[in-house]
Amino acid sequence: DLDDVTMDYVDDHPVPGPEPPQELTGPYAAEIKSHLNSTFGLKAFRKNQFEAINAAMAGRDVFVLMPTGGGKSLCFQLPAVCRGGRTRGVTIVVSPLLALMHDQVNGLKEKNIDAVLLTSNTTEADARQIRDRVYSREKPTFLYVTPERLKVSASTKSMLSYLYRSKELARFVIDEAHCISTWGQDFREAYQNLHTLREDFPDVPIMALTATADRKTVDDILDRLGMRDPATFEQSFNRTNLYYSVLPKRSVDEMVAFIKQSHPNQTGVIYRTGRDKCEKLAQQLRQKGLKADHFHAKMDNDDKERVQHDWKKGKIHIIVATIAFGMGIDKADVRFVIHFDLPKNMDGYYQETGRAGRDGEPANCILYYAYRDLQPILKMIRDTKDPNTTPASIERQERAVRAVIQYCENNSVCRRTQILLHFGEKFDKKDCHGQCNNCANEGLLVTQDVTKEAKAVLGLVQSLERGQENVTVDHCRNIFKGANLAAVRDKRHDQHPSFGAGKDMPKELVELLFNRLLYLDALVEKSVQTNSKWHVQYLKLGSKANSFLTGGKTLQLSHRPKDPKGGGKAKVTKGLKKSAAPPQEQERPRSLYADDDDDEIQWSPKK
Ligand code: ADP
Ligand code: MG
Ligand code: ZN
Repeated sequence: DLDDVTMDYVDDHPVPGPEPPQELTGPYAAEIKSHLNSTFGLKAFRKNQFEAINAAMAGRDVFVLMPTGGGKSLCFQLPAVCRGGRTRGVTIVVSPLLALMHDQVNGLKEKNIDAVLLTSNTTEADARQIRDRVYSREKPTFLYVTPERLKVSASTKSMLSYLYRSKELARFVIDEAHCISTWGQDFREAYQNLHTLREDFPDVPIMALTATADRKTVDDILDRLGMRDPATFEQSFNRTNLYYSVLPKRSVDEMVAFIKQSHPNQTGVIYRTGRDKCEKLAQQLRQKGLKADHFHAKMDNDDKERVQHDWKKGKIHIIVATIAFGMGIDKADVRFVIHFDLPKNMDGYYQETGRAGRDGEPANCILYYAYRDLQPILKMIRDTKDPNTTPASIERQERAVRAVIQYCENNSVCRRTQILLHFGEKFDKKDCHGQCNNCANEGLLVTQDVTKEAKAVLGLVQSLERGQENVTVDHCRNIFKGANLAAVRDKRHDQHPSFGAGKDMPKELVELLFNRLLYLDALVEKSVQTNSKWHVQYLKLGSKANSFLTGGKTLQLSHRPKDPKGGGKAKVTKGLKKSAAPPQEQERPRSLYADDDDDEIQWSPKK
């Protein structure tokens, strides 16, 4: 059963004690603290920052694993402006994205810290100016350089050799270090070359930083960079200030109402899977009075930059984007991240939601879930034009999407527990403090045996199939529910013996039942071409139908029935400000299974 996977260990997980108060001691503590306030304008260290800085100044190799937004930059930026310990000379920072480097260099300059940037796009004149500075006595504190430049540019290499001979290489910093690993999605060819740093400059300490927790990747990073007995700082991937919820996807209007009520004039990102969908939704939002624009990979660079700039400056509040909008976006006050389509995998989901609340203030992460969103994604995976795709990689991606479905439909296990499990982290739901919509609504959960109902649904589909009738999931659900709809009457399905067999079930439970039967392959949706243009998904019996119909298999479902007075109320806990109140699980407006205006059941095949 779906719930089993994550339930296994929840009970035997030891309860961690409270965190000890931070003690800032050691030979460099005073200098480190003074720069935190005076140079960086910050009040206190976040977890592991002080310790990582200390280890760096002591001249050790340092490995920092921190979630996105955790504050990795400070770990290498602060030591560079200190004088004590191992800080003499230029700090070389390697980073994979130009936008990211520009942001950091500009940020440093604003703090009056001397930083220069060398990329493959740097003009020869600018590069010479940078070299002149490096060879002079007025050396920059930071040299940001792309891995490509480091790999191919002879002048860059001789510059490093010069610094090394003069003992003016303070440290190599490898940001987004997972890009070195072929295990990950973000593998970068030029990162591979970074192993030469340790070989060519053996005495220079290395600091590697990443937000990718996968154990294999971490070992790979340490290995490939040749790190020696690194001081390692790893921390929980739990983002305590994020409220996670999964809500049934109903309509754009419902989402707009939520945004207007809970996040007026606040910054947010809405993720969608297609370019057209992004443009269309952004336009809808504007029509409804929200300041929104779209972002996707097919836009030209000027447009991309304009949108990002307007968003950063607050001229636009909401960006409707594909996952192309992501790495390198450093806007601290994102108050909500909404997924209006199904994410492709849990890793991506975590990364995308991680862009909310980087300032540590409360933020909402909402996934609007509809089972029907699965089909278009599976189709996208299978129809890929990527020449590197193999049957095995398609299967892997399909499994990854199904894990997202499992997450969405599991409304009993703490959402944090489920998310963090994907990073190999055991999370005790006590530490969630009601900051997910499963913990917040825990008392309202009811588990019910629905074997009889499952058999009724399968019997209905079986008899329609025997009568050679093609019906959609929605239509079938309406028959089962006994809905008084023209579409049902027209086909005389109100005369069917199973009409209304599920009329006493709460509608959420009916929806859950159909989804679960689809998930378990007791039901399948088959794509049928109705005319030259349109494909329709029709509901048929799946390979596992007989295990219910004749095999004695049973089915239990956990769900939250609505209370008669109007709703499972998500608690607003103390830590969460009113402005970021979690969305309520509202009654469905309008008709029973009327689809919203983004109905994805039909689509025209791309030719
Ligand atoms: P990461 O690289 O880990 O994703 P960043 O270094 O970009 O994170 O930092 C994310 C945000 O957190 C930035 O806006 C940064 O200014 C802020 N930040 C970092 N350290 C602290 C701190 N000790 N106190 C307050 N804000 C911090
Ligand atoms: Mg970073
Ligand atoms: Zn929880």
